[in-house]
Amino acid sequence: MLDSIYDVAIIGAGPAGCSAAYTAAKEGLSTIVLEEHARVGEPVHCGECLSHVAVKRMGLSLPEEVIASRVKGIRVIFPDKTSTIWSEEGYVLDKHLFEQFLAVRAQGAGAALKTSTRVNGMKRENGIWTISANGPGGSSSSFRARSLIDCTGYEAVSTKLTGLNDKKFEMVSGAQYLMEDVPNDGFIDFLIWPRLAPHGYLWVIPKRGGSANVGLVTNDYKNAHKYLKQFVEEWGLSGKKILRPFGGMIPSSGPMRRIFGDGLLLAGDAAGFTSPMFEGGTQLALKSGEFAAQTLARAQKGVPKPEAEDVDTIIEGGKTSYRAGFAPTSSGDPFSAHALSEYEHLCREEFPPYERLVRGKAKFYSFTDAELNSIGRMLPKELVGMTVLDKVAIAVKSIVRFGTRVMSVRDALDTFSYSVGEKYGW
Ligand SMILES: Cc1cc2nc3c(=O)[nH]c(=O)nc-3n(C[C@H](O)[C@H](O)[C@H](O)COP(=O)(O)OP(=O)(O)OC[C@H]3O[C@@H](n4cnc5c(N)ncnc54)[C@H](O)[C@@H]3O)c2cc1C
Repeated sequence: MLDSIYDVAIIGAGPAGCSAAYTAAKEGLSTIVLEEHARVGEPVHCGECLSHVAVKRMGLSLPEEVIASRVKGIRVIFPDKTSTIWSEEGYVLDKHLFEQFLAVRAQGAGAALKTSTRVNGMKRENGIWTISANGPGGSSSSFRARSLIDCTGYEAVSTKLTGLNDKKFEMVSGAQYLMEDVPNDGFIDFLIWPRLAPHGYLWVIPKRGGSANVGLVTNDYKNAHKYLKQFVEEWGLSGKKILRPFGGMIPSSGPMRRIFGDGLLLAGDAAGFTSPMFEGGTQLALKSGEFAAQTLARAQKGVPKPEAEDVDTIIEGGKTSYRAGFAPTSSGDPFSAHALSEYEHLCREEFPPYERLVRGKAKFYSFTDAELNSIGRMLPKELVGMTVLDKVAIAVKSIVRFGTRVMSVRDALDTFSYSVGEKYGW
């Protein structure tokens, strides 16, 4: 393989990697995707929800077989079972089939895919990456590429292998069962019950034929499975057949400080792009993968970039957090960090304002059960289409019920409001 030099090597064939590969190949970049597992999408580590808004935004035409069920929206349930609903349509996917569909689409556009290939080294010299990987039976292989997109999910391998960031994001741990015979009314249930999911939440997500994903995320890694068993009992599901246990880790503290470097872009979970409140990341992975590939395509074509001063203004947005930290270069490298800085601009413009929302989430989790119940009762039964009057009513009730903590309620609800598909919530 060492004889070919690809324009871009994409590490990881999840939603971010497949989306990046499709866009890169369509833009005419010679593209290879390296995936550690033998089959794309397997094993699944996801609740599998995706909003219709996301599907539309990404221009996807979902084949029927990837859709496990169609849902009417999300019901959020507070500790005393007070609930409120976001009525917005979406899908529960068979996520492995969805990712396989994305991979075939990328291959159809011209991307090469190499499975059973676990990347364990990357080094860039004279504008070329040499990427080393392990294959089946301890075999090893190498690949060369002018640029690299890290789409390795929470593992974020480039951070470890290149030192691009000195620390990773914080994470929550997910545990889930696919269970049989779980009653549903067509809504996804999200339960904010800190007792059984500290700094996280629980869910019941209806799939086909009465089955459902029943799970949780929490920062209490050690007890995630204990909480899940307890929840199954309390939700009246004891004795129902568990078809498959699964789980995984999810970034929960917002993007890495650096999401691009010389010849390198981070997309999806590897960049830390998950929804600020409920940590869904599939839509953000699809979009950031697309942005990363578009950035490379423009850089390769030599589309004029902003001058150095403009880049500073654009990428910092008045803040110093997660700026590139790379000096503009005039080396002629089409994929220099300076040339790729546009990626951060695209993400900042489009994605949730993480600095603010991650603080709002911390405030959300600072409330007691009684306070969460009180917040639940302040909200209207239907959250979609709230009027100005509804919002004024919530503000007044917050002042009356929370007094000096009213600003914490405002910040928490601000983060909560980013849970809809339109705001990349799912
Ligand atoms: C329990 C749980 C429930 C979730 N529920 C939802 C949900 O309902 N809706 C939602 O939107 N999001 C959900 N998420 C989050 C969602 O799964 C991720 O945000 C999304 O899959 C991110 O896509 P990605 O492509 O960035 O990363 P991933 O999907 O993690 O893909 C990364 C890929 O990289 C590969 N890889 C990793 N390291 C290497 C390496 N060294 N070499 C080669 N390949 C490598 C992996 O095998 C994998 O295929 C959930 C996550 C968990 C854990």
